Formats: sequence, C-alpha cells, structure tokens
Amino acid sequence: MKVICIGRNYADHAKELNNPLPEKPVVFMKPSTALLVNNKPFFLPDFSREIHHELEVVLKICRNGRHIEPRFAHKYFSQVGLGIDFTARDVQAACKKKGHPWEIAKAFDDSAPLGKFYSKEELELEDLRFELYKNGNPVQLGNTRDMIFSFAEIISYVSRYFRLLQGDLIFTGTPAGVGPVQRGDVLEAFLYLKDGRRESVLRTKVL
Ligand code: MG
Repeated sequence: MKVICIGRNYADHAKELNNPLPEKPVVFMKPSTALLVNNKPFFLPDFSREIHHELEVVLKICRNGRHIEPRFAHKYFSQVGLGIDFTARDVQAACKKKGHPWEIAKAFDDSAPLGKFYSKEELELEDLRFELYKNGNPVQLGNTRDMIFSFAEIISYVSRYFRLLQGDLIFTGTPAGVGPVQRGDVLEAFLYLKDGRRESVLRTKVL
C-alpha cells in the first residue's frame, strides 16, 4: 500500500509557511513504514531539532482505479479518519533550499500516526471539523470547507499519476497552526460526527 500526501491544501497554512498558493495539488508520498498505529508513542528522530505536527483528514481508498473523474471520485473512498504528517521542518527547509526532494523530512519511520476510521456516511464531508490538542490546548482547528482542492479533485488528480489500490491512504493537507513538538508532549486529535458528537480519534505521546 502507499500513502499519498497533499501539501499546501489550506490557504492559511500555506501563508504561515510563506508558500504561494498552489495551482495544482502538491503531491508527495510516504512508505508504509511511516505509519504509526494503535496510539503508539512517537520517538523523536535524532536527525532533526524541529519536528512539526500537521493534522490532516485521511481518506482510505476502497477500490482500485486510475484516471478517475472528479464526479466518480466518491466511489473510491468509503472511510475517513485523521492522521498526523510529522515533518522535520529543519531538514525540509534544507532540502527546499537545495532544490532536493523532501523524503527524508517527510517519509521517515513513524512519521504518519494514523487514527480510527469512520464511515463517510457518519460525517459531513464538506463541512468536517477536526482538531488537534497539544497537552490539552487546541493548536490546530480545521474544517474541510477551507480546503483549496476538494477530496474529488485530489483523487482525480493523483490517479492520473498513480494507480490507486484498495487500502491506499490519502492525507489531504493540514490547516494552519502547525508547530514543533518536544519530548513529553501529548497530541490528541478529534473529529466531529454529523450528529455533533466529538470523537477522540488519535492520541500519541512524544518521547
Ligand atoms: Mg502535510
């Protein structure tokens, strides 16, 4: 399976990192070894002094396909959850400066904690609120209505390049409020269901 990630999909986040708004989705990937499941702790890697949290809505692909038209994209995912796209911001800045690929800053081991999934019928996909708390304080308050590229546009775009397979994951970009984590921090992510209930979806301790 593969993990496809979209960068700069929320205007406020692009702004906070001084990036221009993209005309097309910015796409990168993480390998399956980046996934961190079952609320396991995240160990800070030794190659970075600046690991940032990026909370993102994650789509789970339920059907194989390529060259998917936006109007059919909804048929290709049935479950939605939350994940964190941990980023070694200092390493990424060095890569960007040299014009090098980002992988070592984005795709390293355990860089993608993944929470519980919900059936998309339980969620208001176009007005989906999601939140990240650090040590009990809100740091990222997101809503999918602020996305630059919709789920359908993302699926259509990435499937022109990469054949989507059942079980693949798509991280759909982070809202504003990214920031550093340090040893001892506890991150907890919440998702709002259609009926208004707030669910704790993901929790990880930084060690
Ligand atoms: Mg991200």
